[in-house]
Amino acid sequence: MNLEIPKKFKPVVDAARMAAETVFRPISRKYDTLEHDYPKELDLFAAAIDGMNDAGTALGGATSSRDAKNNSNDTVKNGGNMASVLNIMSMCYGDVGLMLTIPRQGLGNAAIAAVANDEQMKRFGKLWAAMAITEPGAGSDSAAITATAVKDGDDYILNGQKIFVTAGERADAVVVWASLDKNLGRAAIKSFVVEKGTPGMELVRLETKMGIRASDTAAISFDDCRVPASNLLGSPEIDVKKGFAGVMETFDNTRPFVAAMAVGCAEAALERTKQLLKEKINLNYTSPINNLKAVEAEILKLEADYEAARLLTLKAAWMADNRIPNSMEASISKAKAGRIGSRITLKCVELCSSLGYSESELIEKWARDSKILDIFEGTQQIQQLIIARRLLNKSSKDLK
Ligand SMILES: Cc1cc2nc3c(=O)[nH]c(=O)nc-3n(C[C@H](O)[C@H](O)[C@H](O)COP(=O)(O)OP(=O)(O)OC[C@H]3O[C@@H](n4cnc5c(N)ncnc54)[C@H](O)[C@@H]3O)c2cc1C
Repeated sequence: MNLEIPKKFKPVVDAARMAAETVFRPISRKYDTLEHDYPKELDLFAAAIDGMNDAGTALGGATSSRDAKNNSNDTVKNGGNMASVLNIMSMCYGDVGLMLTIPRQGLGNAAIAAVANDEQMKRFGKLWAAMAITEPGAGSDSAAITATAVKDGDDYILNGQKIFVTAGERADAVVVWASLDKNLGRAAIKSFVVEKGTPGMELVRLETKMGIRASDTAAISFDDCRVPASNLLGSPEIDVKKGFAGVMETFDNTRPFVAAMAVGCAEAALERTKQLLKEKINLNYTSPINNLKAVEAEILKLEADYEAARLLTLKAAWMADNRIPNSMEASISKAKAGRIGSRITLKCVELCSSLGYSESELIEKWARDSKILDIFEGTQQIQQLIIARRLLNKSSKDLK
């Protein structure tokens, strides 16, 4: 494995970095303050991304795992997942909330890319899709969801409440998790694409949040909401042996994406901190750490953590591209990057003290933004549980 950035991705990564600096950063504070206002500046940007998607250099997660699946020769590949994590890192160096608001790059898009068939890919591939799993009574334990989908002729009828749906208001569609039969447990949970404007689907409210305030977070209700049976992603069969595997497959792709967000945000904070402290520090990478000033030693430790998280994220993406089962590595990358993202950004506030805490800088904002990356797509504790289960070869029943 070679974890240098593949040359073919360099132009796309450079473009994402430039966008982070010239499009995201200048409007970062504006949309942090104007929570719930749509950042219209991103429309132009989305058109450029569509062009890149058509050219096969997707910016964001939409097409990644599908690229890997369709790639049939056996050589080592750096494909869609690698491109996505590199781009997400670059864009989140600009702003995580704005990155989550780029049209057509939602987490629902990754779910569609992971499990949609060709016909569904044609219908939904160009939509902006959010992902709705969480319910008032089901967060970390996603198998506890109570939303239902009942077959009625050529349709399914959906009922239930979903909360904390990222891009739930702005997206064109929501990928909704619902159970076909609550008596059959997690195996009966399937995902359905519900397009905006479908009767019975209603926006209940928008959340007001600590961070990623440029990104909308919605509560949505489904009340006898009828969707075509062909909107069910994956197999409609309930395979109790396979259990949760179908819908959970998506997370193996999306967890490294969230890890990449944390890595990008941490890099921004570290870099700005070093600029602000440049008169006071001399980072000498050859000197023993106990010969350095406390602040210099602290920065080197943060840099080491940052680099570990970055490499773990690239590894998880590389494995996905090469169709090597990466469930454990996806969780490791998310656990490490989620934790160090918060640690680095908050430490940067501390190291820059009054400037770090002041709104004249973005460091305090990055500290607020990064915390969610240790929560959504599975909290720190849940990632550790998944890693332990994999290492010890235990099922979710054995180790809770
Ligand atoms: C801004 C934001 C955006 C979000 N976007 C989405 C989205 O797009 N789609 C979506 O479906 N959801 C989304 N979520 C929901 C998010 O995924 C959940 O908040 C998360 O899964 C945790 O669930 P919970 O909040 O109900 O916490 P709980 O599950 O109640 O957990 C509370 C605490 O207990 C810990 N805990 C729980 N179970 C265990 C265990 N077995 N062992 C050890 N510790 C445990 C958790 O780690 C956590 O620290 C979003 C949330 C936020 C805040």
